[in-house]
Amino acid sequence: MATVLLIEDDAESRRATAELFARDDWSILEAGDGEAGISLALKHLPDLILCDLLMPKASGFQVCRSIRQKLRLAKIIIISGRDYGVDRTSAIEAGADEYLVKPVCWENLREVIERVMPAPDGALQTGPLPQFVVPSTRVKFWGVRGSIPVPGSSTVGYGGNTSCVEVRADGEIIILDAGSGLRELGIALEEEFGDRPIRPTLLISHTHWDHIQGIPFFLPAYNQKNSLRVLGYEGARAGLATILASQMETSFFPVSLRDMPSAITIEELKEMEFSIGKVKVQARFLNHPGICVGYRLTTSNGSVAFLPDNEPYDLLKMSQAGPGKSDFAEARAYAADARSKLVEFLHGTDILIIDSQYTDEEYAQKVGWGHGSISSVVSLAIDAKVRKLFLFHHDPNHDDKAIDEIVEAARMLVMESGQPVEVEAAREGSEVWLGAKQTIH
Ligand SMILES: [Zn+2]
Ligand SMILES: [Zn+2]
Repeated sequence: MATVLLIEDDAESRRATAELFARDDWSILEAGDGEAGISLALKHLPDLILCDLLMPKASGFQVCRSIRQKLRLAKIIIISGRDYGVDRTSAIEAGADEYLVKPVCWENLREVIERVMPAPDGALQTGPLPQFVVPSTRVKFWGVRGSIPVPGSSTVGYGGNTSCVEVRADGEIIILDAGSGLRELGIALEEEFGDRPIRPTLLISHTHWDHIQGIPFFLPAYNQKNSLRVLGYEGARAGLATILASQMETSFFPVSLRDMPSAITIEELKEMEFSIGKVKVQARFLNHPGICVGYRLTTSNGSVAFLPDNEPYDLLKMSQAGPGKSDFAEARAYAADARSKLVEFLHGTDILIIDSQYTDEEYAQKVGWGHGSISSVVSLAIDAKVRKLFLFHHDPNHDDKAIDEIVEAARMLVMESGQPVEVEAAREGSEVWLGAKQTIH
């Protein structure tokens, strides 16, 4: 007897569907929300999953992705009240086999089931995929804060962990920066991969502590089955490997980098263009104290630029001009040139994640500290024709309300410009998909 799992928050309609399946001799499992559906699916391995699109706790898209990571051949049919083409495409990209629009009559459903189910007995193959394979590029924020972790009730909305962003693209797991957000990412990876090896690539922007402090707490580094590749540029005073090892010296931490059981290779980059599998990476030195690099990843589903710490040149250069130094005209010309090169580097990026630590008022007091301001990143995104801008490296003094206000201010600036740039503040735990064209919070 084949098993069907019905995931639907409307109890009445779930019961009606269950009756139809019961008459056709199916064994039936029921879940009233997305999360319950995911856990039932992973526990009971049903042959067929019928899933509503809009539900509490996890949408049909999220259900598809979570289930697809573990169950390859269970068939998933999304049933939605909406008939938008983009919903259909997104559902299929998330792993659904079919997308049907309500109301669905039993005859139609039977026909679809016969088409998607492997004949004759719906033989189910389960088990982990050899590699994480999704048809889209996924960006997930694990740490969005600058300078120092700030947990607490006033930052719970956007999150208190420092810089760490995960990119899944073309079969690769690329981790941008290893701030305190890396800890939770490590736990999630171990949970997802189980006994399978995890082989992520960590791309480090620079070695300021808020960008590397998660490494000692990265769970996959403590498991022999895994191999980590760490890439970055030489620091101002020491090599990358030396700096990463030094934060784990006995005075600071009980386990040395050398003693972590996974295979860890640290490669100091020399070139500004290289590849991680099929993902093309371009690097660019940023305006930040010491050596700091921004990355632009080109994946088969779009591009992601990550500039976690960067100060605009405009005011900085002007403040450095004056008697006995460079003159104002020279300073202005230098700033304009540096900015236009950055615009070129970012041109047409789908997702830009960039240092927007300060409001314009705060920045005026903090020129030379190495961080960005709202109007400067918005104008950069507009000039570079970026599709979606994520404000990042939030100031530790900014609570959720302050960040909400910053997002509003940034959106006003975009509106005034008349350009189609979407603006969000990066939020811990949120994901954005390229290819599926949707954001999930
Ligand atoms: Zn930083
Ligand atoms: Zn920094």
